[in-house]
Amino acid sequence: MDKLTPMMQQYMEIKERNADYILLYRLGDFYEMFFEDAKLASTELDLVLTGRDCGMDERAPMCGVPYHSVDAYIARLVQKGYKVAVCEQTEDPALAKGLVRREIVRLVTPGTVTDDGMLEGSKNNYLAAVLPDEAGFAMAFADASTGELSAMHLSEAGRVEDELARLSPREVLTAAAFPPPQGLADFCRRQLGAILTPLGGDKEALAAAAFGRYGKNELLDKGMDEAVCACVGLIVGYLEETQRTGELRLGEVRFIRQGKTTGLDLVTRRNLELTGTIVSGEKRGSLLGVLDHTRTAPGARLLRARIEQPLCDIAAITRRLAAVGELKDNERLREKLRQILSEVCDLQRLLTKVVYKTGTARELVAISATLRRVPELRELLAPCKSVLIAEQAAALDAAPELTARVGAAIVDDPPLTVREGGMIRRGYHPEADRLKDLVDGGRGRLVAIEAGERERTEIKNLKVSYNKVFGYYIEVSKGNVSKVPPDYIRKQTLVNCERYITPELKELEGEVLSAGDRLKALEYELFSEVRDMAATCAARIVGTAEALAELDCTAALAEAAQRHRYCEPEVDMGDLIEIKEGRHPVVERLLTDALFVPNDTHLDCKGGRMAIITGPNMAGKSTYMRQTALIVLMAQMGSFVPAQYARIGLVDRIFTRVGAADNIAGGQSTFMMEMSETAHILKNATKRSLIIFDEIGRGTSTFDGMSIARAVVEYVADSKLLGARTLFATHYHELTALEGEVDGLVNYNIAVKKRGDDITFLRKIVRGAADDSYGIEVAKLAGVPEPVIRCAKRVLSELESEKQRAVPRAAPEDEPDAQLSFSAGPAGALCTELAAIDVSTLTPLEALNRLYELQQRANKL
Ligand code: ATP
Repeated sequence: MDKLTPMMQQYMEIKERNADYILLYRLGDFYEMFFEDAKLASTELDLVLTGRDCGMDERAPMCGVPYHSVDAYIARLVQKGYKVAVCEQTEDPALAKGLVRREIVRLVTPGTVTDDGMLEGSKNNYLAAVLPDEAGFAMAFADASTGELSAMHLSEAGRVEDELARLSPREVLTAAAFPPPQGLADFCRRQLGAILTPLGGDKEALAAAAFGRYGKNELLDKGMDEAVCACVGLIVGYLEETQRTGELRLGEVRFIRQGKTTGLDLVTRRNLELTGTIVSGEKRGSLLGVLDHTRTAPGARLLRARIEQPLCDIAAITRRLAAVGELKDNERLREKLRQILSEVCDLQRLLTKVVYKTGTARELVAISATLRRVPELRELLAPCKSVLIAEQAAALDAAPELTARVGAAIVDDPPLTVREGGMIRRGYHPEADRLKDLVDGGRGRLVAIEAGERERTEIKNLKVSYNKVFGYYIEVSKGNVSKVPPDYIRKQTLVNCERYITPELKELEGEVLSAGDRLKALEYELFSEVRDMAATCAARIVGTAEALAELDCTAALAEAAQRHRYCEPEVDMGDLIEIKEGRHPVVERLLTDALFVPNDTHLDCKGGRMAIITGPNMAGKSTYMRQTALIVLMAQMGSFVPAQYARIGLVDRIFTRVGAADNIAGGQSTFMMEMSETAHILKNATKRSLIIFDEIGRGTSTFDGMSIARAVVEYVADSKLLGARTLFATHYHELTALEGEVDGLVNYNIAVKKRGDDITFLRKIVRGAADDSYGIEVAKLAGVPEPVIRCAKRVLSELESEKQRAVPRAAPEDEPDAQLSFSAGPAGALCTELAAIDVSTLTPLEALNRLYELQQRANKL
């Protein structure tokens, strides 16, 4: 360290204190990175890696970015999951004695960003905290950009993953003394792509941070124990460390009790394509893509959250449905409401910027313009009968003192920057007005000087202009230089003209410029006062922001219900799922050349627990099963559903096991994935769950696969073991024989019409088992070459005739004689002989001879 130059020593000290951050170190007009940071940033940001003398033998690797475009580089690093510390010069280099003082002024991490440039409007950006304890796991989630904070305690590790998958945090905080299990840490990193940030402190100290902010009794009264409070403490402490502007914007803690929401694991969320498609992750083609008719970013975020977290609380679901119904039926009201909403701003995020002192005058005007719509909205919503809408209307607060202040202080269309003036309205502050007069008067005088000089010199095109280098000057074209009076002082020669100054112009310049500078500083001060006042109103306006988001979300669901002909579902505590003419909300929208064929569903916990669905490939089995799951989910999130009629007996969790996928990176083959997903379902489902099995046992040999599939069917259908409502699609037609044998199992198939070699898909689900899979016909439809199709048909017919002739019946365990008969006789002797050969001691030639001999004998048999 001693050998390093003083500047490098300063760098190293700061870097040591912020070891897990990429340090951007201000040097003149650049932010520089050194050593490992420089190597990493040069690859991640495509920057040229150079070196700098640091006092040691070798030069320090270095790369840098210009100060004016640093935000874009920070955004890219954070997007890639890095944490960035910005180290600024905190004294004027011109005045500094020796080394310029530098300090960290900003810490930007994936889970704590509040800059809109780094955020997606329609998505929350979560920071999570997880802490294991004796009874399970404590968790807390916050969105630093909106101030939302929730906490919960979960007893099962599976549920922890479900919650993490729901909110998909970018960063997960842990306590270094209580690390999460390795599996959970891997899940966060690999499946969610989150970074893990371990922090110091024991549970007591962490909980104390939460008590300090929210009050011990207040938190304990909500039912939160020490571990949950410690999780909140992790979040509070980390945000205090990273947001360095003093005040913290974090709303009240919402303590979520287990059992109030429907459980959905990561696999199910992906399989059902709730917010993005499996293939590309895009919103188009997902349930969110169909339902999102929101007009505001907070409304879009809330809708996404509702899809990700359907409810298990009948009263709450019914209240939401009533609100959607009222807006669906009242088209005029809905349209007017949506039109107003399309003109309001993202209050939640703008308020955060105001509190963190990064909000601009333009954003204050936007907040004020939104608040000004409140009286109109309240009047519009006054006749509404639904409890939820009435509550939301009541929560709208116009904060008139704030709108009045902003209206009086800030001009209607202020500039984007806050340090260049132009923000404060005339008449708001006498000194600001006086300075403005000076500046404006100066401009008036400039015009007068220009006119006077033109007259005096008789140069018609003489101009008075301004630039940053020379200040005010008089410009005369080359042709008129001979008319220039002697008191002009030449300043600059250009190709076509000469530039001059005069003492009068210099004096005016001094006055105008100093008044301009003073005005800018004063304007910033006055604006900051208004912004601080808005910050003090933030807590009040939060209610308005939330109500606007809720109204937008409800109106969007009403709009979707109206446009796509959805019906209001009945949701109750019974076990019946009865859907008439149900449709898949996404597939029906994407079909262009055919009409979607609606289908019914009937599932209960008695005689119809499990539907075994067979039918040709491409018939629509997956679509049908997913549509049932989506209709249940939509009903429980409080949305109308794509059906003629739907009655949904509440579902506590939805599980899906669909198709072939592997997780090679996670060390799991296709079949291993299939089995772990199956195991997860069998271990976690309850009688109240809804399970979708789309093929089981396809990734292994036919007999192994079929045995597993049958065992799963029997386990799931057995009401003593599980007895959950289940849809089970399979190409193992053998399973349809279980109807009548396994209680609660009913066969369904998706009808097709076969004419010669061609099949027509009818897409209609009917009772009974399918007669065939028509795999070869579907292969033909898909364009598999004719010779392959012909060959497949030949092999199939051979296999089928062999099956009829030769496949021995599997011997039941209690019929030992049947097994014996298979191994007795000459064939048995041949088998015994074959088994006795020690292959490892034979030469290749001996082996070939032995094989030939055995084959001869086998042929004779
Ligand atoms: P496989 O056994 O090969 O997995 P599948 O029986 O599960 O096939 P799906 O994937 O559900 O078949 O459906 C195939 C296609 O059929 C869908 O992409 C959709 O375009 C169309 N389809 C499915 N159901 C319907 C329906 N009810 N009405 C109209 N088109 C449908």
